[in-house]
Amino acid sequence: MNRKIIYSLMTLSLLTNIYANENLNSAQIMQETLSKMKDVAKMSEKNQQNNDTNVTENNAIDSNASAFTLGKYGTFKFEKANDNVYIMHGPVVSPNKENEGFMNNPAVIESEHGLIVVDPGGNYNVGKKVLAEIEKVSTKPIIAVFNTHKHGDHWFANKAIVEKYPKVDIYAHEHMITVSKEGEADVWYGILNRATKGNLEGTKEFAFPTKPLVDGDKIEVDGQKFVVGHPKVAHTDTDLVITHENSKTIFLGDNLMKGRLGSFDESSSIFGNIELLEQIKKDTNYTLYVPGHGISGKKDETIDPFLNYLKVLVTEGQIAYDDDKESYEVKDEVLKKLEWMKDWDAFEKNAAAHLNKAMIEMGERELAAEEDEE
Ligand SMILES: [Zn+2]
Repeated sequence: MNRKIIYSLMTLSLLTNIYANENLNSAQIMQETLSKMKDVAKMSEKNQQNNDTNVTENNAIDSNASAFTLGKYGTFKFEKANDNVYIMHGPVVSPNKENEGFMNNPAVIESEHGLIVVDPGGNYNVGKKVLAEIEKVSTKPIIAVFNTHKHGDHWFANKAIVEKYPKVDIYAHEHMITVSKEGEADVWYGILNRATKGNLEGTKEFAFPTKPLVDGDKIEVDGQKFVVGHPKVAHTDTDLVITHENSKTIFLGDNLMKGRLGSFDESSSIFGNIELLEQIKKDTNYTLYVPGHGISGKKDETIDPFLNYLKVLVTEGQIAYDDDKESYEVKDEVLKKLEWMKDWDAFEKNAAAHLNKAMIEMGERELAAEEDEE
């Protein structure tokens, strides 16, 4: 054979082999593709079934109403806010029928063997829902509760916790326990029951705190260390500022609010509240500042709006006071200077009342100073 023919034969053979291989590959690929397609079909069938199951499960969740939903206010759950600290920020509004009286910030601190709760909420019915949400954080038992002050929107939900954990320790300032038992709880029951159109059902007999605390007390619960401070008079005369030393979180109760103005009752002091917040700003450097109402955050962003608000009341109120004017005469002017917070809940109503309260305190302070001189 001449070289040309040999080359041709070799080429033909090579081409045939390649062709054959290619055919083999094509056949293999075809088969693989087919089997893959079958798998995909099977998988999608399975997925469909899974989806069907999910739909059923989701429906089950919905029909059990296990999500904590409050009409237009949406859904509430605990979210991790710091190391072992979970907070459920309530709607930043006044108590009403639609929010069922839930509008504070319950918190959960997880220890090795249990959970410690701060301010579980405003009534027994809300408490049961908060408890269900706590169980989604952890099914560990609740081993202690803290209440920041005497106002029922923060502590009436103790009732639901005590029902499940009858021996749980509930800490509050000693004066909070005294005045609550002496009638303050009944007053708040009336306020909240009217506001929620009857959602306080089941809240009595009240689950009063059982462990009285005083300024400077240190409490250790299952390795979690707390220090409490008691400003004599600030939001009320029963306040506890609670610091969780492990996570460097500070719970200020209603001495701090963001996005909502509450009331300054007869036991409170606007001057005392300012003093407390200024002291906290100066003395502490924690990683998380938790208001009684409104979103938690870093020190300045959380404290400054409310502190600046109170300072405007005192500065402007003092000018009016020195001019012998009544608060209603300067109210519009002062509110204009607070334009930046006009969207805060209950701003118009409460800011005017707070200005009046600040000016009454000015009178009282002047009187006290005169008496001191005599
Ligand atoms: Zn309060």
